[in-house]
Amino acid sequence: MAGRPALVIRGGTVVTAADTFRADIGIRGGRIATLASELPGATEEIDARGLLVLPGGVDAHCHLAQPSYGGVTCADDFESGTISALCGGTTTLMPFATQVQGQPLRETIADYHARAQGKAASDYAFHLILTDPSPQVLGQDLPALIADGYTSFKLFLTYDGFRLNDSEILDILEVSAEHGALVMVHAENHDCIAHLSERLVRQGKTTPANHGHARPQVVEREASHRAVSLAEVAGAPLFLVHVSAGEAIEQIAWARARGLPVFAETCPQYLFLSQDDLERPGFEGAKFMCSPPPRDRANPETLWRALQNDLLQVVSSDHSPARFEGSDGKKAHGEDAPFTEIANGVPGLETRMPLLFSEGVNGGRFDLCRFVGLTATNPAKIYGLYPQKGTIAVGSDADLVLWDARREVTITNAALHHNVDYTPYEGRRVTGWPVRTLLRGRTVWHDGAVDARPGEGRFLPCGTPGPILEQRARAS
Ligand code: MN
Ligand code: MN
Repeated sequence: MAGRPALVIRGGTVVTAADTFRADIGIRGGRIATLASELPGATEEIDARGLLVLPGGVDAHCHLAQPSYGGVTCADDFESGTISALCGGTTTLMPFATQVQGQPLRETIADYHARAQGKAASDYAFHLILTDPSPQVLGQDLPALIADGYTSFKLFLTYDGFRLNDSEILDILEVSAEHGALVMVHAENHDCIAHLSERLVRQGKTTPANHGHARPQVVEREASHRAVSLAEVAGAPLFLVHVSAGEAIEQIAWARARGLPVFAETCPQYLFLSQDDLERPGFEGAKFMCSPPPRDRANPETLWRALQNDLLQVVSSDHSPARFEGSDGKKAHGEDAPFTEIANGVPGLETRMPLLFSEGVNGGRFDLCRFVGLTATNPAKIYGLYPQKGTIAVGSDADLVLWDARREVTITNAALHHNVDYTPYEGRRVTGWPVRTLLRGRTVWHDGAVDARPGEGRFLPCGTPGPILEQRARAS
């Protein structure tokens, strides 16, 4: 007979991607043991009356402890990054393990496990960034790694040292399709960016604002279409990361109208920032530089619509932490440095869920269920972590967020827990904030107090991406 739960969360409004209902949640051994309209008393009780109880967020795109490049240090390691995420209601992170060209993939994996070891305070899984699809990697390493729970690979169409050609991408897509993995693509046309950047620099147009002009929408649109087409040729599912713009959305709509299993995410920086931010005076615009760049002020509406229409299924942070001040951040090459030498990336682990909740749910753009789908359930399903993660159900990990839908907060970097010295959302007012986060049944964040423990986070092997295969089965 099942014993009494050790912990009961009482009187909250439980939200999943499918339903909103009043229930008590009984927790035992770090998992959800019971859900009932009223549970008997337990050793420990948490009063959730007046609060929403959401599945802990799954942030499926972030960068932690990656090696520095061009003199710029990744400001967050697994300790500061995971703690910041927990304070923002996110309990599972999916950072990247980046293969250095020529490096055996097992070495890459071991390297990143060492970086997380003893530091991660939230649970985590890895995506692999593939830069060198040798016959050994394709024929032996990838199939073995997929079986071990590394089931998503990010490929780049741009960046020297990262970008792959079409035939390399086709090879990886085919291996992924055959063994049940998912390819994620950073879709921007490399030669277009190089061409436009060179021209701008030649004309003396070197301020951060020109970062946006060097990467117009067409650059992303072409690469998105190419990625979709390569996936179609290979018969593979595809995930487009950090979709920034309406013209890329048009390519996704086109692909899905053809019945292709194409999935995609956007990020808060494309919903809340714009080219206007890149054009802030002096060097200030550098704070908003990321790739793809924030677009014009009208663009976010197209993204909100795509979130409503299910053309976008996931909202991730793409937390890419570079500090603003100092010799190892955005100012590494001085404030007169051309935009081509300024580190890309914006931070956002802790603000992802509050921003989306405030503008999405309280702004009347979608309901609570959709919010949970976008921030937790869909990424957990797409990357094979469901139902252990991403939902509230008997048997799932007790990763829970008690959310105050009415709390008004003015975002300030001073109140955040990352190791970055700015937030692009400084001074922005939001309504709705996580007041308590539980990781596998233990409170790690409550009313401004952090009780996260470095090393408590567990590595999560990923299964085969489920809903994607279902969709393929339906199509065939
Ligand atoms: Mn990228
Ligand atoms: Mn990224």
